[in-house]
Amino acid sequence: MARMRRRGFLLRSSVVLGSGCLVAPNTRAAVAPAVLRKPVAPVVVASANGHAGCVARAFEEIVAGKAVVDAVVSGVTLVEDDPNDHSVGLGGLPNEDGEVELDASVMDGPSGLAGAVASIRRIKNPSRVALAVLRYTDHVLLVGAGANAFAKAHGFPEQELLTPEAREIWLHWRATMSDTDDWLPKTGKDVPENVKQYFGITGTINCCGVDAKGDLGGVTTTSGLAFKLAGRVGDSPIPGAGLFVDNAVGAAGSTGRGEANLVTAGSHTVVEFMRAGKHPKDACLAACRRIAESTRAPRLLRADGRPDFNVSYYAVDKRGRYGGAALYDGGEFAVCDAKGPRKESLVGLFAR
Ligand code: ASP
Repeated sequence: MARMRRRGFLLRSSVVLGSGCLVAPNTRAAVAPAVLRKPVAPVVVASANGHAGCVARAFEEIVAGKAVVDAVVSGVTLVEDDPNDHSVGLGGLPNEDGEVELDASVMDGPSGLAGAVASIRRIKNPSRVALAVLRYTDHVLLVGAGANAFAKAHGFPEQELLTPEAREIWLHWRATMSDTDDWLPKTGKDVPENVKQYFGITGTINCCGVDAKGDLGGVTTTSGLAFKLAGRVGDSPIPGAGLFVDNAVGAAGSTGRGEANLVTAGSHTVVEFMRAGKHPKDACLAACRRIAESTRAPRLLRADGRPDFNVSYYAVDKRGRYGGAALYDGGEFAVCDAKGPRKESLVGLFAR
């Protein structure tokens, strides 16, 4: 009975919104509670790999009137489609078995809805599938075979995502990880520098934005930890961990060690610090401090007692302020506003 009523409501909503509206049926139905006194200067932030086109495309689409969640997904699609970015989508580094498994989440501020997929295979744009989960299901998260079946039902094409270069990187990793198994390295034990740089690497793209009305949206998409256990899911597809958007406050997302972010609900923490009045940069820094304070397992600590991994946060608030921070300094993030796309420095909690 409740289900019948919900469907009836959605039908009415989409009729009112008009069939040409890209965000119908269920992303624009709700209204954000906060009221702004003056228009916001739109801004988009992303992890550093969003510099090459992503933030500029998202910003242009926001200014042209597209819903923020659609614009940021459009932006990260550029990176998912890029075979040379080994952290997401096509060309992403695979799990330990050589299978590329992708995770993504989206959140739409005005409706308060989220969509996500985890461990999806052979679909290069998991962010778009996550958007379809948000828009065309009554759920938030689909995983594995179910996520793939849903994507297939919606016509997302399947393809091999392991590019020749990503395969070579994986093969080097696989063949040099043990002296006692039966895998032999093609080029001896010396791993080429261009391959070695990817060992133990994590990578992701997060992109969040705010439009002139103060409406917010965000996306996080990733191939996850390189050479992970099959089925390992990180923070990226988990609302509250790798991404969180509250249309009354702000939007935040992260890259880095997903396990640390999962156990601290990191992006939610950033938004809560913004709700308490912190500038986005300081809110990101406070969430980094929370990770440092809660990391106690000896295997995760350096000799000086600090985490032996990095996590970075990126955030925008409803007023159009933005910032980013990381556990360790030296990183950058991508920004685009009316001044154009650029990189800015992340504030570090600790010196590297
Ligand atoms: N956070 C991602 C994950 O843990 C990886 C990364 O951002 O580097 O899956």
